[in-house]
Amino acid sequence: MEEMTKPRILNGIAIASEIKAEVAAEVQALVRRGIVPGLAVILVGEVPASQIYVRSKVKTCGELGIFSEMLTPPESITTTEMLALVSELNARDDIDGILIQLPLPKHVDTKRLLEAVSPDKDVDGFHPVNVGRLQSGQPGLAPCTPAGIMEILRRSNLPVAGQNAVVVGRSDIVGKPSAMMLVNASATVTICHSKTADLAKFTQSADILVAAIGRPGFVSADMVKPGATLIDVGINRITDSADVEEFFPGDAERAATLAKRGSVVVGDIHPAAFARAGAYTPVPGGVGALTIAMLMQNTVTAAKLRRGISTEKR
Ligand code: NDP
Repeated sequence: MEEMTKPRILNGIAIASEIKAEVAAEVQALVRRGIVPGLAVILVGEVPASQIYVRSKVKTCGELGIFSEMLTPPESITTTEMLALVSELNARDDIDGILIQLPLPKHVDTKRLLEAVSPDKDVDGFHPVNVGRLQSGQPGLAPCTPAGIMEILRRSNLPVAGQNAVVVGRSDIVGKPSAMMLVNASATVTICHSKTADLAKFTQSADILVAAIGRPGFVSADMVKPGATLIDVGINRITDSADVEEFFPGDAERAATLAKRGSVVVGDIHPAAFARAGAYTPVPGGVGALTIAMLMQNTVTAAKLRRGISTEKR
């Protein structure tokens, strides 16, 4: 029988700490030049999950020495009023990054707002100008989750150039920009989605498999090439004890989490597939852990780019 070596767990929390420490040092260097990078976060209404995300973004800013300002307009705010708010932030010199926490209330025109953010302050990397910059390999601001994936691969010394990378999912936030960054790093990239015929044929050929689907444990063990690098972007909450047992058989810790919190988090890759991997990102503690660190990095990058300071890293 073929002997399998134990897969390497790619620890997103440790990588995120490393990045945050580097960002803090970059902030200090800017502060010595009289520049304090600043992030404005707009949180509309009272969506509990958004409140949690925003609070942790603001807290991380504080830890790294980044100035942050939270704006909390009421749910009833109109698109016109939001546009005025964004325009004020675009004009402020002490603000380098503007983040509009999504989702916005239904009556607000999200697309129009995201396009109103100055591309130079678009720390989420969603503005069409930054999408274009990413595609043409120009310096700019890239979306945080895909940027986090690339940092995991780079800092774990996993090869990308010449590898077959398969991205399942084609969202503007994760799938497409991840594919673009992988191709910029010289991988051979295939993008799959819900209309892909014979998905397993593609995933089985992947040296690097990125799953950004939003369906619990969707990628099964037989869909994975032995020894592949598995990047699991999915964050899915399961609430049924039979599902928890199916994904995590005999896992007392997760059964306890379910009893205590009413849900357990599982990625888009079935945990059984991880045993076949060469390396994989766990859920939680993998890709998700990088997102805020990359937002902080983007804020500092924006502060530098806007002032013509080099963003080259050694
Ligand atoms: P979207 O719902 O926007 O996109 C999902 C993609 O998966 C679509 O392109 C869809 O295809 C594809 N898909 C759905 N079903 C299938 C299927 N049966 N076979 C193949 N492809 C399929 O999700 P996001 O990209 O925003 O997020 C994906 C996951 O990542 C979610 O679990 C989300 O919670 C998580 N996430 C995690 C982040 C983090 O770690 N910080 C950040 C953002 C997201 P089609 O286009 O044809 O519909």
